[in-house]
Amino acid sequence: MNVYENLGITPVINASGPVTRLGGALMKDDVFKAMKEASGYSVSLEELQGVASQKISELTDTEAAIVTCGASSALTLGAAAIIAELNLSRISKIPALSFTPEFLVAHHQRNSYDRAISLTGGKIINVGLDDITSGAGVRGVELWEYDLERTEHSVAVLYTIGDKFVESDLKFVVDWAHQANLKVIVDAAASLPPVENLKLIPGTGADLVCFSGGKAIGGPQSSGILCGQKKLVASALLQLLDWDEHMELWNPAEGILDKNSLAGLPRHGIGRGMKVGKEEIIGLLKALELFTPEEVEANISRYLIILNHIIENIKRLKVHCELNQELGKYPVLNIQLDTESSQQNAFQLCQRLRNGHPRIFPGHGRLNENIIQINPACLKEGDESTIIQRLNEELKM
Ligand SMILES: *Cc1c(COP(=O)(O)O)cnc(C)c1O
Repeated sequence: MNVYENLGITPVINASGPVTRLGGALMKDDVFKAMKEASGYSVSLEELQGVASQKISELTDTEAAIVTCGASSALTLGAAAIIAELNLSRISKIPALSFTPEFLVAHHQRNSYDRAISLTGGKIINVGLDDITSGAGVRGVELWEYDLERTEHSVAVLYTIGDKFVESDLKFVVDWAHQANLKVIVDAAASLPPVENLKLIPGTGADLVCFSGGKAIGGPQSSGILCGQKKLVASALLQLLDWDEHMELWNPAEGILDKNSLAGLPRHGIGRGMKVGKEEIIGLLKALELFTPEEVEANISRYLIILNHIIENIKRLKVHCELNQELGKYPVLNIQLDTESSQQNAFQLCQRLRNGHPRIFPGHGRLNENIIQINPACLKEGDESTIIQRLNEELKM
């Protein structure tokens, strides 16, 4: 019995990929080993974040970086940093500020993670309209529309990439924002691989960029990265760490923070509840070390073999298989059910797979199109055979 079974919980076959609801990525052994070793020592968290900054800023070509407890928390800390910079009064007041800082967000980029920004007391301002997604027309949000929503309280543009990074789109927004004296914070949580995006996205000039550590990077589930402008990252670190220390004794770790720029050490900031453990920092650094173009290439090849094997063994069923494989990214298999001949639709099939033995969680992002998805990233050895067997049982005519 494993630790979960001891608790009466049956682990599931995860064909959804490294989603938060199912516990994120499966950590690599070396990451786990590094975390276990990290847990056996006491260390200055500030010093550790300082070294993490050096290593991650090198990988991302930025001035500074910190490890956060996820991309969502990186968004909150980044927004708090933009609002307060090194202003101790503001740091102490967030989220109960005497003014309402505004973050401009293009209509089509609005999503559930906006909440990470609102947490700081900042307000999300909707920009423009998106006729493309609504199917009503040919134009998405345009640059001039940001101008319409800008006020004296605007502090930044929040830009969400999702899984499609178009360098020029972000660059246009960054250039507009900077000439309007606004910062740009980018949600790039799920924009990896390709590995190069670690550099390309900050390379657009965006002031802060957030990545998830528990998705493609394969770090601990509760880890993430905030990287970018040094002054902002310093502010984020000030609002994250526990400063139960005397100013006279404080000897700031080299790199991010400068004692002379502060009148005193802040009390607990908005990030205090988003604590990052030493194990997570070490685990993420190890995962980043292993997250190379070669590793991604090897994973892509392995995933393609798995998915093609599944296709080969379900193609006699009344389904239409489509391998979605974008260059440099991880492939996903879309299995569209034949509505005419199937007794069940994709919602029902998904439910039956989830409730079956063993429990299988296919990707459920396109059920409305009668498609279930197989994302191979979190499959363990033998899982593909189980998936093939269950699909054959469920879909046999
Ligand atoms: C997953 C995701 C997040 C949150 O990342 P965590 O590391 O789980 O906090 C934020 N934004 C987008 C677009 C995501 O896909």
